[in-house]
Amino acid sequence: MTTRPDLSQLPHGLGTRPVDLRRGLPIPVVNVHPGGEVDFASINGRAALELSITGRCGLCGRRMTGPVAFLGGPNCAENGIYSDPPMHEECAEAALTLCPHIAVPHARRASERRLAHDATYAVGFSEEKPSEWVILVSDGYGNMLAPAEKGDGTVPVFIAGILVRQRRFGYQDGVLTEIAGG
Ligand SMILES: [Zn+2]
Repeated sequence: MTTRPDLSQLPHGLGTRPVDLRRGLPIPVVNVHPGGEVDFASINGRAALELSITGRCGLCGRRMTGPVAFLGGPNCAENGIYSDPPMHEECAEAALTLCPHIAVPHARRASERRLAHDATYAVGFSEEKPSEWVILVSDGYGNMLAPAEKGDGTVPVFIAGILVRQRRFGYQDGVLTEIAGG
């Protein structure tokens, strides 16, 4: 897996994002931390909340109109509660193929943790990698603050509105593939 990611199929919004030179990937807005530090393995909670409140995509930062998408495991989809903010459906699709944590079955996210502020996850949001991923499309969303897993701070969580559709993706022969009828 040493080849550079293919960015020729990027949705328009993600195509406008700066590219991380080491990974060759567009940098999602939620992964930019105070001071401009980039960490693909953790979310800037304040930025995520601001994007959500202003109706902008958590990945490309551009305005969302109509239904929004959430990306996570089956548990998140069942509860409709996410630690990642809503995004465009096409940006979620791009993340499925580009994000190494998602696209590669055995990629380890924890080992990539570098920054101290990584440790801000809401209670109950384990870092275990799901065996399936779900793009949940909803008609809208809300947000709230939940107690952080470490310390006594709070982190934002995002709540899907009325379900429009769900698309399931599983690993088949090491490749993430959409499961028909999901
Ligand atoms: Zn987007």
